[in-house]
Amino acid sequence: METDYIAEICDFIVTVTDKMLKKYPDIDKERVYCNLGNLKILYDTGMLSYAEVSSDMILSISQNNANILTTLQGEDGFTRVMTHEIMHILQIGCGCEEIENCGRRAGISVFWEDFTLNTADWTWMVEGSAERNMCTLTGGDAVTYQYKIDYLCSMTMSVPLRNGVKADTMETLCFKSDPEALFEAFGCKNEAERDELLNMMITLQVLQMQPKSFHAAYTERTGVDLFEDEEAMNEFSYSLKPAVCLSLSKEFYENLAAFVNENGISVNDMFFLINLFEGQLNGHLNYTVESKKEINEPFIKGYTAIKAAFFEALEKENAESTLTPFTVRTILPPQERGFITPSFRRYRMKS
Ligand SMILES: [Zn+2]
Ligand SMILES: [Zn+2]
Repeated sequence: METDYIAEICDFIVTVTDKMLKKYPDIDKERVYCNLGNLKILYDTGMLSYAEVSSDMILSISQNNANILTTLQGEDGFTRVMTHEIMHILQIGCGCEEIENCGRRAGISVFWEDFTLNTADWTWMVEGSAERNMCTLTGGDAVTYQYKIDYLCSMTMSVPLRNGVKADTMETLCFKSDPEALFEAFGCKNEAERDELLNMMITLQVLQMQPKSFHAAYTERTGVDLFEDEEAMNEFSYSLKPAVCLSLSKEFYENLAAFVNENGISVNDMFFLINLFEGQLNGHLNYTVESKKEINEPFIKGYTAIKAAFFEALEKENAESTLTPFTVRTILPPQERGFITPSFRRYRMKS
């Protein structure tokens, strides 16, 4: 009976792994086989989650919780949870990649044991990627981590039309081990651009995972323990979003400008992309909601400036064409347009 259960789980792991290796031939097979060789399965553990894979390759399954999930969501619920866990087997660094002081590595996310603040530990991305990969593979909805998936999608949308970047590039970065892959996807050209991207990744980690080490440092500096005050924690977390969205916006316009330079784009397509991108950011910031107006202000100001710079450059580049000013419909409500209007004064090239 128990042997059957384990055999079924093993069979499922092999099937999913096989599909993924075929779909993504770049995944380091040696590492995956090594992880599979070391995998231990504990199938009757008491824990809060349904199943989890630890960095030392122990797959723990709570049969009790799994049964509850199956009752709630059908067989498919547990299949999706298991598929997510198998993605971790493909992400986690294997035992023969011993790196000094490295406590845990999954994809391009690394946890160093000798640092108090781990700024390269991007578990939000590891989890969001595993769930997103699960969705793509099974065609099912996310069981958890929807916000993390949303940020991954925003990252994808901030590098539109970039050479080599595909719809699933962001969530497959965690199948690689070289962080350069992240800089490459965003086309970082210098230290400043890399720093900005790193800052964004760390900010997302703080926002999405609330790491204890960060909050201990925060308490030490400010005297405020955010874990003690839910309202303050919510406000603090939200206040991180404008900065993240601004970084994404810089990436978006930089990459759009590069594409316009190299390939050209129709005005319609350009505005379509801009609208899509603004709608995506609105998912994080709700800039149409009155109560968020004040906290979103740094974003609105910064975004207006970035957008204005983009259109100014575009206008200069196209000095010889006849440019006719026109205003496009914005996704902002009238009361917000007051201070955003200047950047929405667009120019259309007469064809
Ligand atoms: Zn190995
Ligand atoms: Zn996970």
